[in-house]
Formats: sequence, C-alpha cells, structure tokens
Amino acid sequence: MNAPKRGARGRETEPRAPVRSGSPTFFGLPACSEWEDLSAQVAILGVPYDGGINDRPGARFGPLAIREASLRFPALDKEGWYDVEAGRQILRGVGMVDAGDVDIRSVETAQNFARITQAVGQLLALSAFPVLVGGDHSITYPVVLAFAGRPLRLVQFDAHMDFTDEWHGQRYSHDNQMRRAIELPHVDGLTQIGVRGLFERLEPYQAAQRSGVAIVTSQEVVEKGPKEALAGIALEGPCYVTIDIDVLDPGIAPGTGFPEPGGLSYYQLRDALQEVARRAQVVGFDLTEVSPPYDGPSQVTARIAARLILDFLGAIFPSRE
Ligand code: MN
Ligand code: MN
Repeated sequence: MNAPKRGARGRETEPRAPVRSGSPTFFGLPACSEWEDLSAQVAILGVPYDGGINDRPGARFGPLAIREASLRFPALDKEGWYDVEAGRQILRGVGMVDAGDVDIRSVETAQNFARITQAVGQLLALSAFPVLVGGDHSITYPVVLAFAGRPLRLVQFDAHMDFTDEWHGQRYSHDNQMRRAIELPHVDGLTQIGVRGLFERLEPYQAAQRSGVAIVTSQEVVEKGPKEALAGIALEGPCYVTIDIDVLDPGIAPGTGFPEPGGLSYYQLRDALQEVARRAQVVGFDLTEVSPPYDGPSQVTARIAARLILDFLGAIFPSRE
C-alpha cells in the first residue's frame, strides 16, 4: 500500500476516496484557516448561529450537515463539474476554499452579530466573494452590514417576508432581519421571491409595500416560470442574494424550521438564481435555515442546499478556458 501523495499544504493530491471519511469541508475544498493567505475567488464560510429562531431550533447544525452532504459533489481537481443537463462545465479554474466557521458562542446576539460582520468584512477586504452557510436567517442582517459603503440591492428567496419590525420585544430574530437590512443606508431596495402563506398580522406586509419592496409570490413563479415571473423586477447592478431554504416545497426540502405549504421546485429555484446571476452583479450570497434535526435520515435538504450553492456559483463565475 502506497502512502497518498501530498501537495505543499499537506492535502492529498489524489482524488478523495469514494467513501466519506475524515473532517468534511464544503465540497472537499481545501480548508483555509489562516485568512492572511486567502487568495481564492470564493470563500465559503459557515455561520452556525440559530439564536434568532423562536420555535423549532436546529439550524446551527446546518453548516456541518451541508459540509457532509456536499461531499456528494467533491471538487476533485481544478476542472470543476460537468452539468449534464446544461451541457457545460461549471466552475472550471475558479478558486474556492472552505473558510471555516464564524466563532459563534452560545446565545449572545450582539457579539455574535459583530463577529459575523467582522468576518465577512475581512473576506471582502481580501476581495473574496463570500458565501455564507447558515444558521438561521437572522444572520443576513450582520452580513449585509459588512457591505456598508458598497451600495447594493437585496434579493431574498423565502416563503416568508421576515419583515416584522418588533414582536414581543424582539428586533433581531429571523423574522426581523429584512426590515433591519432595508434600514441600512447602503441598501437600495429589496425584492422578495417565493413569498406565500397566511399572514396573521398585516403590518409587515403593509410596511413592505410602503418601502417599495417588490414581491414575486411563489405561485407566480410556479405558474409563469422563473424567467417571466422576474421579468418586471429591477435586478441590475450590485445585488446581495439571500436564500431561505424554506422557499422550496417542503415535500422536497423538509429539513427546515418553518415549512410552508406550496413552494418552488429545485428546478424553479435553480433557474431563478441563474436568472438573477445573468441580470445582476451578484456580490455575495447566503443560504440559511437548513435544519438537520428535521431533515430525516435522507438528509436530502442539506444535499439540495449543497447543490444549489454550486449551481448559483456556476452561474455567477464563468468557467475559465
Ligand atoms: Mn422562511
Ligand atoms: Mn427567512
């Protein structure tokens, strides 16, 4: 038995074995813990925080579950992946790393948020494209805060609006973060895609309409198709995209805290993300609310989440020839 060949950083240069083992990284990518050395175009960072959830916690385990599920799509070499349905190679030659996790400590909201903002700011200073893997959806606020001084629009994929101003004294839960984000001076607007369900309070909806939030409901996407449903939506310029996995039909993605009847298929969400990438200049994105305790033994929600990260990155970064 020969010892595996190792590269300069001690990583095996032979392809990863087909049996999952060891410490998972996102897509089996190299782990980068010394950020001073980070020169990759894309940095995937876990945010294992779910202190923003009122009911049904568990999203703090999302980054770990998505890392493990992502090993189904291992980055074997610099060639990227061949998408047989699109008939093209994606992410060839695009440098990507697993940047680890934000140092989340228990239940301290303000300090955890500060650490999230600081970490994302550091990645932006290194000119890395940040991909944040939650965690509950409240993390989007401290992430968007890190883009201060860089005007951008927000595009949110979600069954819910997350636009409550205050409820039972809470202003920083995963039901408030889009309201908080749109208050930031560098945020130019918000589009919400996939909204559905029954509202027990109208104030958030009315406030969103007053703020000029554009809403594309789930049913519009399902009936018209993603491209036509997004046709009238302003998507030009720098955009930060936030994906709450509950935008998907809970029949295909049950592993989330607030499953909502209805929802998008995998293809509809993928095509909508590709349409956003085609029309806007995406400057970063997050994927939140994958909650492994509700995912069941198949862990299929984590796997769909991993696949969507690659699909979206593949639409944002063209393969190099
Ligand atoms: Mn939601
Ligand atoms: Mn949400």
